[in-house]
Amino acid sequence: MMLTGMHIAIIGGDARQLEVIRKLVELDAKLSLVGFDQLAHHFTGAMKLPISEVDFADLDAIILPVHGTTLDGNVNSVFAHEPIPFTEKMVQKTARRCTIYSGISNAYLDELVKKTGRKHVQLFERDDVAIYNSIPTAEGTVMMVIQHTDFTIHGSRVAVLGLGRVGMTVARTFAALGAKVKVGARRSEHLARITEMGLVPFHLNDLEKEVRDIDVCINTVPHLIVTASVIAKMPPHTLIIDLASKPGGTDFRYAEKRGVKAILAPGLPGVVAPKTAGQIIANVLAQLLYEDLQKREENRQ
Ligand code: NAP
Repeated sequence: MMLTGMHIAIIGGDARQLEVIRKLVELDAKLSLVGFDQLAHHFTGAMKLPISEVDFADLDAIILPVHGTTLDGNVNSVFAHEPIPFTEKMVQKTARRCTIYSGISNAYLDELVKKTGRKHVQLFERDDVAIYNSIPTAEGTVMMVIQHTDFTIHGSRVAVLGLGRVGMTVARTFAALGAKVKVGARRSEHLARITEMGLVPFHLNDLEKEVRDIDVCINTVPHLIVTASVIAKMPPHTLIIDLASKPGGTDFRYAEKRGVKAILAPGLPGVVAPKTAGQIIANVLAQLLYEDLQKREENRQ
């Protein structure tokens, strides 16, 4: 599987993008790197250039950072002094086959994609990426719990809320460390799966009752679910780690008022394991780009 003949622009990002560059260079793609001026490392086959010098018409793909753009249409890069403008005009110059990749999207990027009609792939919407990412997320959660408690995870009573991709991995990880794990969900098949995993299931309708005897509460549900009335029932020493995307699913104002420590912990893979997090993105991207290339060659025949 090689990407010979593909021209790809990688615009901005953080340490994770270095793994993407490394992988795509290895697969022989031609890379235009924008926003990597402060990166001392030189990659053969990759050219650093300002956005104004990118040959958009020649591009097969544009790779944006995990967060895509800012709401005012810039791309952030930790390897550049200034944000990089990313506009509709630039994308209009690309051929129709040019695909845009990012982790997630926002209103600006959605609008740009709609107006230009280019294909946009949000890597973090993919099940495989979410499952791979759940591994560093769970490790980061272990780190947070160790940092913010004075007791071992082993033997502690942990409630995990939600049995999605993150919830399942987190529940398994804490159980493997010897915690007494119960998992809250709302679907009967999830309750069945929790039982199968050897953990204690409960329905999220019973959350208030179930938090009376816990030491740690780990939320993965991206809706306000750890409400003031739930927090009021927790023992005061309970640590709440909220993994759900911003603004999380916890009433942080009430937690603070009651003196219960509650922490919103977004983006753990990029924090605790940027290399692995980058490799997860790089591997999936390589596969998707290869599929793009194959389609292009089929269309030519
Ligand atoms: P997921 O697979 O969609 O799981 C979400 C879970 O929440 C599902 O079990 C879902 O149950 C449940 N849920 C959703 N809405 C609910 C509601 N209103 N009431 C009760 N349960 C509800 O998502 P995921 O991949 O596990 O990710 C979970 C969250 O973590 C997301 O917000 C994601 O962005 C975030 N995340 C954070 C990090 C980090 O580093 N902190 C890393 C990765 C992901 P149903 O099936 O019943 O809807």
